[in-house]
Amino acid sequence: MIFMKRLVLFLFFLSMAVLNGNGWGWNVHRNISKVAVYKLPEPLIAFYKKHIEYLAKHSINPDKKSFIDSTERFRHFINTDFYIRNNMFDSKLPNWCKLLDSIDKDSVIVNGTLPWTIISYYSLLKEAFKVKDKKKILHYSAYLSHYVSDLTVPLHCREDYDGLNKNQKGIHRLFETILPDFNIKEYNFFSVKTKYIDNVKDVVYTTIYDNYYKADTLFVAYDSITRKYNEIELYYPDKYKNRVQNRFNNKALNDFYLMSNKMTERQILKAIWLTSSLWYSAWIEAGQPQLK
Ligand SMILES: [Zn+2]
Repeated sequence: MIFMKRLVLFLFFLSMAVLNGNGWGWNVHRNISKVAVYKLPEPLIAFYKKHIEYLAKHSINPDKKSFIDSTERFRHFINTDFYIRNNMFDSKLPNWCKLLDSIDKDSVIVNGTLPWTIISYYSLLKEAFKVKDKKKILHYSAYLSHYVSDLTVPLHCREDYDGLNKNQKGIHRLFETILPDFNIKEYNFFSVKTKYIDNVKDVVYTTIYDNYYKADTLFVAYDSITRKYNEIELYYPDKYKNRVQNRFNNKALNDFYLMSNKMTERQILKAIWLTSSLWYSAWIEAGQPQLK
């Protein structure tokens, strides 16, 4: 009975992972955490390497949590449009407390709290390092990895998170799941260099700002492939678990990748860089504790 329950839950999570636009696909989240560990300098790498499987496994927990906790899903995105319209995003990230002085909390929540979630988890990780609480260090590291990776998905920073019009519907999943599944093995992970970040808020702000405009490049690239290929050329039917699904043909995927200037690759490398750099920076700011 317990096994059946677990199986049903697992299948439920799996189907949600396929259908829902909650961030990079789960394989990508796991890979980001794993590669980020190898980008850490000594002596931190020794500690993280011991727990690499835990970090990869738990890096997808925030997505799983959103299926059972209705407040969780707002932590995975930000509607930058809302803040631009209200002239609150022109030079830096609005301070959380000041924000609540000027806008009601419900409006803030429904427009996504991703940047403030990252800042909060960064502080929690720093505090966990200070007291050398291994359980909390690993928990906050895994969650932080997830949220900063979501931050590198440009469509997580736009109200039009799945296209500007109905013809672009599906672009979200194409960018964050289908394309990396197609060619992640070709990405150049060697170029990532971890560094100490002295102002997390600034890095989060500039990433969101860049992403907001990067989404436009994705919309143009998507229009290009749908203009170039007719529907029969764009997709091929594929039988998966007794269901026939339309899958993008490889030529169209490659075109989208090149037309968007390899944005999927650049953003995944950025997610790895941000993950390892924030883990490292939190450790530095906590006084570089020795961990066994
Ligand atoms: Zn997510």
